[in-house]
Amino acid sequence: MEKKKLLKYWKNNIIRDERILKVLEKVPRENFILEEHKDYAYVDEPLPILKGQTISQPTTVAFMTQALEPKKGQRILEIGAGSGYQAAILSEIVGTKGKIITVERIYELFEYAKDKLKDYSNVEVILGDGSKGYEKESPYDRIIVTAAAPNVPDPLFDQLKENGILLIPVGGGFFGQKMLRVKKIKGKKEAENLGSFIFVPLIGEFGFK
Ligand code: SAM
Repeated sequence: MEKKKLLKYWKNNIIRDERILKVLEKVPRENFILEEHKDYAYVDEPLPILKGQTISQPTTVAFMTQALEPKKGQRILEIGAGSGYQAAILSEIVGTKGKIITVERIYELFEYAKDKLKDYSNVEVILGDGSKGYEKESPYDRIIVTAAAPNVPDPLFDQLKENGILLIPVGGGFFGQKMLRVKKIKGKKEAENLGSFIFVPLIGEFGFK
């Protein structure tokens, strides 16, 4: 599929915010994937990156970006930097007054994402176990987890601002995960199930062991 066709599909089915669509158009997915997969950059499939991990399917990235409701000037925490592509999209949306912190547990991918994101001055890539969040820069307006967790990790919810949104695939096993959008309202969780997805596992203290 070409990029144009994907953008048209998203505009008609997924993206309600014109700014998000513009950013999806602007950020080149081909720059975040491995050289040998460049011809498949706009095929609507996940692609292997390093160490058995994947860059998510383009439509999943579009869906999650819309569901997160990111805004200019926000501070956003991403867990699972992977290729850096999702962080680049969020970086363009929050702009220079906002900030993206993205955490990756695998050293090779941390280095890969850091390299791919070197021109995005409002993004910081952190090596560590993101199931614990990243308290130092908290609280966050938004938290997006791009790996599947057994449940909503307490530290992530604690590091979310009041009225903030946490987007996370939860569950395991054959049928994949449900995408939860969790809002913090008066300190309590209000969760919504946005549908089924399949992600690599979130491995860590508050993830899968
Ligand atoms: N957002 C990425 C992108 O745009 O390419 C795709 C992420 S990939 C589907 C999931 C990533 O989560 C993998 O790179 C994996 O190593 C990472 N991951 C798994 N558990 C983690 C943890 N506890 N902390 C940080 N990263 C983790």
